[in-house]
Amino acid sequence: MDLTQAPTASELRAGPSVDSWNRRSSFLLFSTPAVGEEEMLEVADTLKSGWITTGPKTQQFEAAFGNRVGASSALGLNSCTAGLHLGLMALGIRPGDEVITTPMTFCACANVIEHLGATPVLVDVEPDTLNLCPKAVEAAITPRTKAILAVHYAGHPVDLDPIEEIARINGIAVIEDAAHALPASYKGRLIGSGDNPVAFSFYATKNLTTGEGGMLTGSAELIARARTLGLHGMSRDAWKRYGHGGSWFYEVNEPGFKYNMTDVQAAMGLAQLRKLDRFQARRREVVAAYTNAFENIDALEAPTERPEVEHAWHLYVLRLRLGALRIERNQFIDELTARNIGTSVHFIPIHIHPFYQQKYGYQPTQLPVAYESYQRMLSLPLHPMLTDADVSDVISAVLDIVQRFGR
Ligand SMILES: *Cc1c(COP(=O)(O)O)cnc(C)c1O
Repeated sequence: MDLTQAPTASELRAGPSVDSWNRRSSFLLFSTPAVGEEEMLEVADTLKSGWITTGPKTQQFEAAFGNRVGASSALGLNSCTAGLHLGLMALGIRPGDEVITTPMTFCACANVIEHLGATPVLVDVEPDTLNLCPKAVEAAITPRTKAILAVHYAGHPVDLDPIEEIARINGIAVIEDAAHALPASYKGRLIGSGDNPVAFSFYATKNLTTGEGGMLTGSAELIARARTLGLHGMSRDAWKRYGHGGSWFYEVNEPGFKYNMTDVQAAMGLAQLRKLDRFQARRREVVAAYTNAFENIDALEAPTERPEVEHAWHLYVLRLRLGALRIERNQFIDELTARNIGTSVHFIPIHIHPFYQQKYGYQPTQLPVAYESYQRMLSLPLHPMLTDADVSDVISAVLDIVQRFGR
């Protein structure tokens, strides 16, 4: 085979190239929840208790989680999206405001800004971490900017110091999306420990899962307001003021949402939290094996970890150096699928989704780092249920494809 040529038409028509001897026998899912006996016992305990929605287990989980990330206050919710929505609301984001955020994230980040009638202002990311670029944030500040929504992409903390400095100078807020960043730290500070509102996700694929679920951490004052807004805006201490003395009384001072976490979710969360350090140790072993195998391959760019952070390693995002390959990212993924390896892509940048592209008139190349990275990225399986054999199957499959389709 002439390695300087692109795949021939017949090669492409034939579909992915794979020999039965090097294909693993079963499909390796991109993600599998690490759920076992401990979760089942905690959930059974809750079901038997007679209290299945927000109650004692949620309170216990909020306390344990807050303690783990060093938060002064924590609020259990039904999703991270709810946490971002409530966090922005509690910061007072209103119609006409601008919120600066990253294109390299899940659509929830921009959607919640839209729900508040505010404008998501997308700025480019840094080439190494794919996190929000502080210089780009600074350049996008206008008199209408009210907040910066920073995402800890893949679990690598964003460069918080310069971002918080820009916010301080301009008198605006910082809110953090830590859907990937449990547990993570930046210059020794745990993500979730400061006064900023920080939203975590317990979706099925995340580092800790309750099926669906989320947590918002932040200052006691902000969390108290988010707690009311997250349960219809019902103020439950009103009865004290009026001396009714009964727990049936509440008042609605503004319309809120129905975002509370249930005790069934919290029960799962408590069991998961006890195992989190073990999960993370396994994630790091898998990452070390991948990076060791990929870091010296011309066609591959392995993810980085800056020295001042502790990475939560939610995702292992490999970027292809397309100049060293005869196939593009989509074909690379097809080749992995043909070798029974599941993958994903994180993320389709916000500015190329039709709603945002059309409403704000973005050109794909307007955010060049995000767009160029998107075109050559894929996420490999990374979770604590991976066996050594799984990891070695992923590595062999990637290297086999690089060898077959390298230039
Ligand atoms: C998963 C995810 C969310 C949304 O989390 P939910 O709990 O499903 O609402 C938000 N932001 C990022 C970066 C995510 O990966």
